[in-house]
Amino acid sequence: MEERVIASGLTRREFMRASLAGCTLLALTPAVIPAAASDRAKGPFELPPLPYAQDALAPVISAGTIGFHYGKHHRGYLDNLNGLVRGTPYETMSLEAVIRASASRPGEAAVFNNAAQVWNHTFYWDGMRPGGGGKPPGEIGRAVEKAFGSYGNFRKEFLAAALGQFGSGWAWLVSDGRSLKVVRTPNAENPMTQGLRPLLTVDVWEHAYYLDYQNRRKDFVEASLDRLVNWAFVERNLGKAGG
Ligand code: MN
Repeated sequence: MEERVIASGLTRREFMRASLAGCTLLALTPAVIPAAASDRAKGPFELPPLPYAQDALAPVISAGTIGFHYGKHHRGYLDNLNGLVRGTPYETMSLEAVIRASASRPGEAAVFNNAAQVWNHTFYWDGMRPGGGGKPPGEIGRAVEKAFGSYGNFRKEFLAAALGQFGSGWAWLVSDGRSLKVVRTPNAENPMTQGLRPLLTVDVWEHAYYLDYQNRRKDFVEASLDRLVNWAFVERNLGKAGG
């Protein structure tokens, strides 16, 4: 088993050896920050906490899927992004500004892909809640009916976008400032770069569903729509969509 680094890059065995050689705990002042933690703390961007426990969306999405998806994939994009932007003008920008600025620069594809994936995943987590989904009430319910004719039509259109995305990508409910639309994007792409405001997304990369649904993307998206959508979050995003 891998030895855990307990302080200042020392493994437990090295620490014990050092202690036995006459060092005391006083050597481990707060100024001595464990190496792994200081790397993480460098930022500039941080991984937002999940808005629920890792097992909260089960059985629609298992704790195992969330654990890998949030803990490995989302964290991986964040670590990549931080490595790419440190010491560049991106370092002091908001995540949205990094996405917008790098989207139009072909040479900055790695920055764009990782920044957009960090944003997309945070937005995806926030758009779900245990016991959510189904036909939305209130203002967002009326907006969906106005734009699509009925909730059923919206569901059909969203499902078609999610299944029609060849390979990796995202299905989105967006606002163009006048009405709601369903769009899909490949890979890390985000509708905000096309002047659209994201309201809701479902991740259709295989890593989002393969552990639970294998190749059955349709079952995953249907279950997500029917049982997980956080419509209060969607409505809050709609409220910001004034222009
Ligand atoms: Mn993902």
